[in-house]
Amino acid sequence: MTALPLVFSPPRGVKKPPRHLADLDLSGRRAAMADLGVPAFRANQLSNHYFGRFVNDPAQMSDLSAADRAALADELFPTLLNHVREQTCDDGMTLKTLWRLFDGALVESVLMRYPERTTLCISSQAGCGMACPFCATGQQGLTRNLSTAEIVDQVVVAARTMRDGAMAGGPGRLSNIVFMGMGEPLANYNRVIAAVRRITDPAPSGLGISQRGVTVSTVGLVPGIERLTAENMHVRLAVSLHTPDDELRDTLVPINNRFKVDEVLDAAWAYAKQTRRRVSIEYALIRDVNDQPWRADLLAKRLRQRGDFPWVHVNLIPLNPTPGSEWDASPKPVEREFVRRLIAGGVTTTVRDTRGQEIDGACGQLAALEEN
Ligand code: SAH
Repeated sequence: MTALPLVFSPPRGVKKPPRHLADLDLSGRRAAMADLGVPAFRANQLSNHYFGRFVNDPAQMSDLSAADRAALADELFPTLLNHVREQTCDDGMTLKTLWRLFDGALVESVLMRYPERTTLCISSQAGCGMACPFCATGQQGLTRNLSTAEIVDQVVVAARTMRDGAMAGGPGRLSNIVFMGMGEPLANYNRVIAAVRRITDPAPSGLGISQRGVTVSTVGLVPGIERLTAENMHVRLAVSLHTPDDELRDTLVPINNRFKVDEVLDAAWAYAKQTRRRVSIEYALIRDVNDQPWRADLLAKRLRQRGDFPWVHVNLIPLNPTPGSEWDASPKPVEREFVRRLIAGGVTTTVRDTRGQEIDGACGQLAALEEN
């Protein structure tokens, strides 16, 4: 095993992550070729290597001249993700990786393999500024936004892992991406949208993963949801609601002090109407905090009020307790009653499987442990 750079200081004077091919769209890549004195057709070649074959090292691009390889390595293929460690569980079907970025910031991504799909949970920020008290990342505060390429490279590494059969279950294909790792994606809007385009554009421009297989999860930044609606993409929107009443949501999801439940649901409904894609309402069930039967009834009522087509479904998440917090998941009978009432109220409801819980789930906890 190679030694890992555990202390990683940024190059003097550099604050932004280094530019990478994945930061650029196809025309930006052509312009970069001109700047570097490399023929324009190299833009497509490089794109095929990176997005089509998941190669991130010009030394392996044998169809380039040695001089071009050298010129391009530093300029367009800096190392963005330094592997710190990985953990597996669920018989190897869940793989969590902790990455150290160029400036020492830590982020993680989690690959989850199911019989019919493989999902990668990715980070969009180092830390998070939303301060939700039940979320490990929320306790860290925001370090910084990730660059587009720092987001995309998480996907490329996972796509390569799947293709090469480097995870239990043999070779396969990465099919789904969820922005449910660290960070609030709509607070890093432009870079996240550019990353979604790189992830979903067909080759050689991007990775060619279906937009329908990409989920953007948000605390409910209403202007961000409205902008996303106007993009007219077909990504799934998930809204982390966690309670139907403003009084409790003001503490559980502090941004609710700016954008109230009704405004968030209106924006989500408009998204569903525009895209014809069902919005997912995320609800972490917390014992004696938000799991009362009346809250299930109120949630069903507020959702049903808005649309007569099935614009929404509720995804209950058993709380993954964070270290040092007194909060816990709801008992199973309470969870079952909550589900029963939502369904009786006419709302499609699922309970999320708790993949990766024994390796601290997809909730920012591995990076939190490393930092302590
Ligand atoms: N900031 C975005 C995406 C990151 S979190 C958002 O809030 O949607 C992804 C999901 O995990 C969110 O629904 C979040 O509320 C949930 N989550 C965070 N911490 C959790 C925990 N300890 N247990 C269960 N779910 C949690």
